[in-house]
Amino acid sequence: MILRKKLIAGNWKMNKTPTDGVALVAELVTAIGKQTDVDVLVCPPFTGLESAGKALEGSTLKLGAQNMHFEANGAFTGEVSAPMLRALFATHVILGHSERRALFGEQDAFINKKVLAALKNQLRPILCVGETLAEREGGIALKVVQTQLEAGLEGVGKDQASTVIVAYEPVWAIGTGKVATTDQAQEVHAFIRGLLVKLYGDSIAQKVRILYGGSMKPANAPELLSQKDIDGGLIGGAALEARSFVDLVKAAAAVK
Ligand code: PEP
Repeated sequence: MILRKKLIAGNWKMNKTPTDGVALVAELVTAIGKQTDVDVLVCPPFTGLESAGKALEGSTLKLGAQNMHFEANGAFTGEVSAPMLRALFATHVILGHSERRALFGEQDAFINKKVLAALKNQLRPILCVGETLAEREGGIALKVVQTQLEAGLEGVGKDQASTVIVAYEPVWAIGTGKVATTDQAQEVHAFIRGLLVKLYGDSIAQKVRILYGGSMKPANAPELLSQKDIDGGLIGGAALEARSFVDLVKAAAAVK
């Protein structure tokens, strides 16, 4: 029995004006806006959320943000909150992306507050975890992933755990063209699933989707997506063009 529908999520990062974003969404809607085999999510920058949300109205595409603050409002210059994202009809939010961790100093406890705030506001968090090259070469990849996962999910109860999405993104594979081998990726995904079993029990752990992220492309997606514990992809570069993103959705739909 298939418990988990595949999810292909596009992280546009700091790319595309609202106009460019609407053009991309329009192409996606035409190509894959009616299919229901795979969940498809686009995550524009904050400035493009409203217009992208309008452009995907009436389609099966979903809208997500790339970050948020954990407070609902207040003196946090430059920040955006969960209720603000909900007001634009976002349903998902990427949290703890490695670029947020490395470039903006985000740490596990801070990310955890965001995860809890997202859930409180009916936003599905996509919690990103993953090791650097030095950590992998030092033999501590699994330990790093475990720490990030457990700290990120601190205080998330059994009633909400299955709405969380985890993204395993080896930092050395993001935007580098170096993809983790299917064995490397499946090993970490199975490890994450095992940690979720310990935290929440088997039936909940089997419902949590674990995405792979890191230079996923139409050419390498079929093999990655056919792994037992890889439930979709968090896509950076290949999400910026309709053709490659649509091909990734088709690759996910083709996996039996
Ligand atoms: C990402 O940033 O989440 C990502 C996976 O990027 P890319 O696909 O470009 O490696």
